[in-house]
Amino acid sequence: MNLLHDDIVNLSAATVDALSLTLLNEQQLRVDVLRLDKIDDFISGNKWFKLKYYLEEAIANKCASIFTFGGAYSNHIIATACAASRCGLRSIGIIRGERPAVLSHTLIDAMKFGMELQFISRDQYSNRNNPAFIEELSIKFEGAYCIAEGGQGLPGIRGASEITELFERRLYTHIICAVGTGTLLEGLSFHLLPSQQLLGIPVLKGLNELEKKWSAATESNVHDQIKLIPHYHFGGYAKNNNQLFSFMNELYLHTGIPTDFVYTGKIFFGTIDLIKKGYFPKESRLLIIHSGGLQGNGSLEQGTLIF
Ligand SMILES: *Cc1c(COP(=O)(O)O)cnc(C)c1O
Repeated sequence: MNLLHDDIVNLSAATVDALSLTLLNEQQLRVDVLRLDKIDDFISGNKWFKLKYYLEEAIANKCASIFTFGGAYSNHIIATACAASRCGLRSIGIIRGERPAVLSHTLIDAMKFGMELQFISRDQYSNRNNPAFIEELSIKFEGAYCIAEGGQGLPGIRGASEITELFERRLYTHIICAVGTGTLLEGLSFHLLPSQQLLGIPVLKGLNELEKKWSAATESNVHDQIKLIPHYHFGGYAKNNNQLFSFMNELYLHTGIPTDFVYTGKIFFGTIDLIKKGYFPKESRLLIIHSGGLQGNGSLEQGTLIF
């Protein structure tokens, strides 16, 4: 299915950029950034990788439509709307919460890609992973194919594991990524080299749930190489403050790298903080996965960020 693999996003736009900060020289560290934010404006970062096998399966099953779940500012919703439209699939977005008087920029963009929006109460939304509920929706939408919220699940993990093809794996002692559903982290864990550490920085407060999932799901030998680093979520999902915004602005001034306030701003903040605290041994070489998501900054008041 060439359609899916070659033309939907521009993978060759992803670069590995070296961070140049005096702090790194002082500590004899090297930090590179995998710029997945550059592969597409709408299907940004890890979202393409998590979607591709879902879309492939929908097409293989001859489904004309797909549906998925998300919030009003969801990177996954806008990525799905755009990718589905480029694959010639009808898309339906099941959106958490009542329909607001004014739609978010994300939902307006999703509609421009032809996504139909269905708002459901937060209560109903909590059934999003319940097979009976999914079946009911699939029938309602005439056999539409369900893509799990955030592209989580096996097809998502499989796709995310392919991100490791975009960088020279043997160069790095530590790979660092944001953790929402943990799909990206799980995908990256597939191709870890024996001496590598994979650090996940959760952007939600519910670390215990993730930890439970992790201890159940990972092979024990890989598990020793994977660490979740809490305390950098700034109070929880999409929570923010001026410290985070100033950090993101400073980072942009010094490196030219834009970040989003929900995911990547927090992992850069966390990584720099860990470096300041001497967490990484001298000579470590880090790779930060810039997982995109810049569209989310559109929900901020103008002028909050300088980029
Ligand atoms: C969705 C998203 C993540 C989280 O990925 P998971 O696989 O859900 O852990 C990280 N960064 C950005 C920018 C995202 O949009």
